[in-house]
Amino acid sequence: MGELSALFSPERIAVVGATERAGSVGRAIMENLLDSFAGEVVPVNPSHEEVFGIPTLDDVAAADADLAVVVVPPQIAVDVVREAGEAGVRNVVVITAGFGETGSEGAAREQDLIEVAQTYDIDLVGPNSLGIMSTPVGMNATFGPENATEGRMSFMSQSGAFITAVLDWANDQGIGFKDVVSLGNKAVLDESDFVREWGDDDDTDVIIGYLEGIDDGQAFIETAREVTAETPVVLVKSGRTDAGAQAASSHTGTIAGSDQAYEAGLEQAGVIRAASVQELFDAARVLESQPLPESDGVAVITNAGGPGVMSTDAIGDSRLSMASFTDSTLDAFSEALPAEGNIYNPVDIVGDADNERFRDALDVALGDANVGSVIVLSCPTAVLDYQQLAADTVELQAKHDKPVAACFMGGARVEPAAETLADAGIPNYFDPARAVQGLDALSRFRDITEREYQAPTTFDVDRERAREILTSVEGRADTRLGVEAMGLLDAYGIETPAGDIVDAPADALEVAESIDGDVVMKIVSPDILHKSDIGGVKVGVPNEDVYDAYEDLISRARNYQPDATIIGVQVQEMVDLDDGVETIVGMNRDPQFGPLLLFGLGGIFVETLEDTTFRVAPVSEPEAEAMTREIDAAPLLRGARGREPADVAGVVETIQRLSQLVTDFPAILELDINPLVATPDGVEAVDVRLTVDPDQL
Ligand code: ADP
Ligand code: MG
Repeated sequence: MGELSALFSPERIAVVGATERAGSVGRAIMENLLDSFAGEVVPVNPSHEEVFGIPTLDDVAAADADLAVVVVPPQIAVDVVREAGEAGVRNVVVITAGFGETGSEGAAREQDLIEVAQTYDIDLVGPNSLGIMSTPVGMNATFGPENATEGRMSFMSQSGAFITAVLDWANDQGIGFKDVVSLGNKAVLDESDFVREWGDDDDTDVIIGYLEGIDDGQAFIETAREVTAETPVVLVKSGRTDAGAQAASSHTGTIAGSDQAYEAGLEQAGVIRAASVQELFDAARVLESQPLPESDGVAVITNAGGPGVMSTDAIGDSRLSMASFTDSTLDAFSEALPAEGNIYNPVDIVGDADNERFRDALDVALGDANVGSVIVLSCPTAVLDYQQLAADTVELQAKHDKPVAACFMGGARVEPAAETLADAGIPNYFDPARAVQGLDALSRFRDITEREYQAPTTFDVDRERAREILTSVEGRADTRLGVEAMGLLDAYGIETPAGDIVDAPADALEVAESIDGDVVMKIVSPDILHKSDIGGVKVGVPNEDVYDAYEDLISRARNYQPDATIIGVQVQEMVDLDDGVETIVGMNRDPQFGPLLLFGLGGIFVETLEDTTFRVAPVSEPEAEAMTREIDAAPLLRGARGREPADVAGVVETIQRLSQLVTDFPAILELDINPLVATPDGVEAVDVRLTVDPDQL
C-alpha cells in the first residue's frame, strides 16, 4: 500500500454538510456511505440534531475522523478544511464546487484551499469532485447513483459524470474496481499521485484513467515510468486544445501542438493511450486477467475461413504477427485436420469441426514454441457446442498459461459461453479486430515492462557563451533570432558550416575568398522568417558574383518590407546536398510537458511533408536514436537505393545536444535547426531560428 492508503481505507468518515434534504448532495453521500461502508459514518451539521438517525456533531473537529468529506457551500468550505486540518484530519475530499472552475473569485478560493492543505499536510481530493470509492472497505463516498463492485482495477477520472456512466455500464459488464477517484480540480492531489499510490498498491492490478489534461508532464513521466515497470496504466486523454497557442514562428512550433506532446509524453511514460472508452476497457480487461505473451506470434484457430482472414488483416495492422508453426505442429495438424482444412496460420479446422477437433487444435497451437498467443475464432454450427468450447478454452489457457482471446461469433447463443470465458478472464468479442487489439495491448505492456530507461548524456558545452547569445534579445521588441545566433549551436557542440555575417559587399567577398569553392549567401533579418520565401538564399555563388548577390539580397529584402531591420548578409560554406539528407531538429515548449523535441525530414517543405516524430526532452541516447528510426524517410538516412549511409550517429548526437540546450535554457521557447544536413561525412546545421523569452534568462 502506498502513501495515500489512509485515504482509501478510513475507519471513521466525517461528512461535513450531511443532511437528509431530498435531492441534495449531502444526502446522497450519506446514503451511499451508510449503504455499505464497513467503518463509522459521522454526520457533521450544526443545523440538524440527527441525520438518518445518527446524532450529528457541530463541527468536524469533534468528529475524530480519519477522512472528512466536505459538502458545505463554497464560502465556508476552506474554513471547514482548515478546522479539519487543525484537528489532525489528514485526508479530505472536497465535493463542493465553486472553485477554480468558476472564475477569479473561485480561483482565489482554490488558492486558499491549497495553502490550507499545505499548512496541515492534507491529502486533498478535489474540489469539485464526485468523490472517491474503495471497494475493499465498502466505501462509496460519492454522490453518484451507482456503487462499484469489487475488482482489481483502480480508476481515476477528471470528469465525475463520466464515472457515473462508467460504473453503470461496468456493473452490467461484471467489471469491478479497487479504488475510484473523481479528481475534480486537482488542486492538491493529481494524476501523478494516484498513479504512484496504485503502483504501490498490491490490490490494484491495472490503473485506468480518463484525463483532460496533465498538469506537470515531466513529473508524470517520471512517476509513471516507475509504476509501469510492473503495473499497466491505460489512459484516455480527451481534448485537443492547443493551450500553448503562442503564435509560432518556427516550423516546429507550427507542427508540434499539445496533442503531440501528450502522445510523446504518455508513450515515454510507459502509458498505453486508448483512443476510446471501448479501447480503454478492452485493454484494461486483458491486462488485468491475461498473462503477457513471450512472443508476438499469434495463432488463429477457426472453423470459418472468412473471419480467419479478417483476423489476419487485423494482425497485419497491429504490432503482432501471424505465428509460423514448428514442423511438429504442422505434422500434428496434417494428421488431425481433414484435407480441405488449412494447417498453416490461420488454421482452418473446417466448418464441420466438432468440439474435440477444436480442442485438439487449440492444444497443439498453444503448445507451439513459436506461438505467443491464440485467438479462438468460431462461428456457430450444428456440430459445435459453444459452452463446451468455452470450457475447453478456459482449461487449455490455464494449462499453457499463454494469453488467449476469444471470438465466438453470434448473438444470444454466445452469452452463456461468454460468461464462462469472462469468469476465467478471457474476453470474448464478436469482432476479431478487438480481440487482436487486446492481445496487442498485452504485447505493448510486455515491452514497457522490459524497457530500460537511460539517463540523458551530459555533453561538455559552453553554457556561458550560449547565455550571452540568448541575452542579446534583452530590451528588444522582437525576441526572435536567426542565423546571427549560429554561435549558440556552436557553443553546444553542434557543427555549423564556416561563415560569417557581414554588412558590406567588400566584407562579403573577403569571407567568400576565405572559404574554398562557391558559397551560399543569405539575407539576415529578424523580419524575414523564412528566407527562401523571398528569394533570400543564394546557393552556389562564385566569388566573382558575390558583390551582385549581396546587392540583390538587400534589395529583395527592401522590396519585401521597406522598413525591415536588416542585420546583413551571411556568407556560408556550401554543404554537399547531393550526398546528404536535409533533416529538421527542433523544439517547441509545451505548457504541460515542457520542451518537446521534433525530428523529421527537413528543408523548405517540412510542413508539407510532415514526416516528423516527437519526444519530451531531455532525451537519452537510445531515445534520440529511436527518433531517427521512426520517420518514414528513415531508410534515406541509412542509405536507401545504393546511396552511402548518412552519419546517423551525428544526427543522434545533435538531437541530444539540442535536448541539453533547451533543457538548460527554459528561455528558449521554440527553435528550429532546419536543415540539419546529414551527409556520409558528418552533420552540419545550416540554418537556425529561435524565439527567446528574456524574462526567463
Ligand atoms: P530558410 O529556411 O530561411 O529559407 P535556409 O538557410 O534553411 O533558409 O536555406 C534554405 C535552403 O537552402 C536549405 O533548405 C538548403 O536546401 C539550402 N541551403 C542553405 N544553406 C546551404 C548551404 N550552406 N549549403 C547548401 N545548401 C544550403
Ligand atoms: Mg531553413
